[in-house]
Amino acid sequence: MAQQTTSVDHDAETDDEFRARIRRWFAENAPGRRPRDPNERKAWVRAFHASMYDARMTGPSWPVEYGGMGLSFARQVIYQEEAARARVPSPLGTGLGIVAPTIIKYGTPEQRERWLGPMLRQDLIWCQGYSEPGAGSDLPALRTTARREGDMYIVNGQKVWTTHGSDADVFFTLVRTGTQESRQKGITYLIIDADSPGITVRPLRDITGAAHFAEVFFDDVEVPVDNRIGEENEGWPLVRTSLGHERAAGAMNQATNYRRILDELIDLVRERGLGSDLIIRDRIADFEIRVRLMKYNASRVINDIIVRGEPGAASSVSRLFITMFEQELHEFAVEMLGADGIVTRGSDLAVQKGRWLMGFIATRASTIGAGTSEIQRNTIAEQVLGLPRDPAMPAR
Ligand SMILES: Cc1cc2nc3c(=O)[nH]c(=O)nc-3n(C[C@H](O)[C@H](O)[C@H](O)COP(=O)(O)OP(=O)(O)OC[C@H]3O[C@@H](n4cnc5c(N)ncnc54)[C@H](O)[C@@H]3O)c2cc1C
Repeated sequence: MAQQTTSVDHDAETDDEFRARIRRWFAENAPGRRPRDPNERKAWVRAFHASMYDARMTGPSWPVEYGGMGLSFARQVIYQEEAARARVPSPLGTGLGIVAPTIIKYGTPEQRERWLGPMLRQDLIWCQGYSEPGAGSDLPALRTTARREGDMYIVNGQKVWTTHGSDADVFFTLVRTGTQESRQKGITYLIIDADSPGITVRPLRDITGAAHFAEVFFDDVEVPVDNRIGEENEGWPLVRTSLGHERAAGAMNQATNYRRILDELIDLVRERGLGSDLIIRDRIADFEIRVRLMKYNASRVINDIIVRGEPGAASSVSRLFITMFEQELHEFAVEMLGADGIVTRGSDLAVQKGRWLMGFIATRASTIGAGTSEIQRNTIAEQVLGLPRDPAMPAR
């Protein structure tokens, strides 16, 4: 897919000039008010990401040949700060930060050409089909099978907790091509078009009242062998790439977003005349320190990707740190607001449309998705601290 505007020589600009240019572009092209209707909102997000892609203003860390901006680390940080400031809507689906690095590393040139540009432009919404009932933390226990018949795989089984599964154009999945006993040695990485006959998607309503997840059923679904990334039965190293990137993805985005959200919380503390309460000051100081550390953790993750081409175990440190922070921040906000804090959105009495209570509810899931906190701690113990493997973990 050709991009339309002329490319910019980033090296000819200073960091300040780059920041000013990015800020101006977001100010002039920001997509306006977020529609309330979910379908209109999806179209609005997709249109904005398409316009960013066409103007070569998206994919700050992506190589230029795949439609990204190819920015240095320092420039990526500036870009993320300005995107957070402009409240650029996040892309739909879960593909960009997770499957894209996998396709870049393991895909064929045809696969890169076929999928990367449309993914970045949001012409195709990608969703992750890894988890199954009985295969979450213990992912190698997965049971969805793919049987080879000529140039096709025939897929049967079920996935669950597929975020944005109802919006998906494409699922990136793990399927069993070996025996159940072969565990991770019998897993294959397969890309499945969501409109293939035999797929049923059932939305799952969650505690926020929305249906962010779906369960996905595969009944004799035919998938071309060309949709396989890497070799048959050798999908596990790709999973490690994807999972590492999933934990790393958005680390810097979240650091910049939480910088803004903490500033908004500090404004709220002042507005409510609580700025001299010693306990509240103490908690705010703690959050201030942690939001700064979050940025340094994110820098370590991005540095690992630049130096080694892979996010290392620092991504688990970053993920654990952010998820605990966001839960505690929202819990603090709700407590600080007292009775006002539990008024839900839709009521005139709700503080800032009930955003702090909604954040409190929504972040219950943070310490489960992309690996639970217990699993992150195990990874940190083993890979960062060099402790022996948890005897409760299945053998590798
Ligand atoms: C918001 C959110 C979004 C998600 N999005 C997706 C998605 O898009 N695609 C997808 O494929 N999946 C998705 N998931 C699923 C997610 O990856 C799993 O929920 C997660 O890996 C945990 O698996 P499980 O739910 O099966 O729990 P289990 O693995 O059954 O764990 C149950 C409990 O046991 C603990 N436990 C398990 N094993 C160990 C161990 N060895 N040591 C210590 N404690 C252990 C866990 O920490 C947890 O507390 C999402 C989940 C959430 C909450």
